[in-house]
Amino acid sequence: MTTAIPMLERARDLQDTLVAWRRDIHMHPELSFQELRTARLVADTLRDMGIEVETGVGKTGVVARIGEGRPAIGIRADMDALPLQELNDVPYKSLTPGVMHACGHDSHTAILLGVARLLNDMKDRPPGEIRLLFQPSEEDEDSDRKSGAVRMIEDGALEDLDAVIALHINSNIPAGQIRIATGPNSASVDSFNATIIGEGCHGAYPHQGIDPIFILAQVINAIHGIRARRINPVRPAVISIGAVHAGSANNVIPDEVTMNGTIRSYDDETREQLWKEIEQAFAVTRAFGGDYKLEIIKSYPSQYNDPTVAALIREIGVSMLGEDGLFPEEPGMGAEDFAYMTRKAPGAMFSLGAKYDDVNRPHHSPIFDVDESSFSIGAAILAESACRLLKSKA
Ligand SMILES: [Zn+2]
Ligand SMILES: [Zn+2]
Repeated sequence: MTTAIPMLERARDLQDTLVAWRRDIHMHPELSFQELRTARLVADTLRDMGIEVETGVGKTGVVARIGEGRPAIGIRADMDALPLQELNDVPYKSLTPGVMHACGHDSHTAILLGVARLLNDMKDRPPGEIRLLFQPSEEDEDSDRKSGAVRMIEDGALEDLDAVIALHINSNIPAGQIRIATGPNSASVDSFNATIIGEGCHGAYPHQGIDPIFILAQVINAIHGIRARRINPVRPAVISIGAVHAGSANNVIPDEVTMNGTIRSYDDETREQLWKEIEQAFAVTRAFGGDYKLEIIKSYPSQYNDPTVAALIREIGVSMLGEDGLFPEEPGMGAEDFAYMTRKAPGAMFSLGAKYDDVNRPHHSPIFDVDESSFSIGAAILAESACRLLKSKA
């Protein structure tokens, strides 16, 4: 096995630049599909390196190519921020009120710029194309319910790729460690909006109407029975009801109840079963004389790490960080629109440990922050993985 250490040493020389890029982006966060300044920063920085750049891909995305021909390996970073007011008192605090990079996509963008530098400067880079995919809008979908990855794919950014890789920084894993899953890495995510329809009446005379709140209780029971009684116990799935709204007075039985929730699973078969089972659960309303309206909103599919690509990233991680550099694998039910990309080409995403301090700083919280010393590790692993994939796919 050739050692991956030289790439890590080269990445460490870039550490200050990586931090400067990240802080610049962090101070100027932009919401999903509005990443104009970020895209400009990315394009200008790449052009300064002498790399050819395509802008406006997938609306506000940027695609850059290093080398040409096959094999072709994609590396993806997302660029969008979240509608949150930053509460951290740091010199690089967000300058845009109500908008914050609270998921670490600023780090991803900076790290991928570092990867560009590392690969572009390489004299002995294996033949083939490295395609840098700076993607907009991972956190949200546009009015056609399409996220940044979908828009990039529609614009052809993923055509003829032999593999695609990415990282997600993680504020719960210590810096100096990575986590890489084999197989399922993130869940599919769908949501539902529903109305339970009854017939309002006086609270003293419930028999004169149809109480949708009573029916709601049966529906909630039926929904929570799906995971427990209808889904194969060894297949991960979860349905959570997030909101229920009904009524306005203590003595009035309302006409209807509205509710919504989230639906998550790993495999496509279970996902489709969940859609059907939820429909069945709402059909209970009819047994009680009521009715329902149900809309299931389909969003990101599950993301699957190709075992061969995952093994390669793991091997590189261990050679750079040692056996202690591997954080235990633990599947989660979060979602990632990188899933669309790994359905176009075999690929994998790993978590880059970057715990900031002893305070709990979860992703999507106003006190989210990361240990920037992880950046050079992330850049080195992505760059080295891309080189090894070029060789192995040749
Ligand atoms: Zn996020
Ligand atoms: Zn994210």
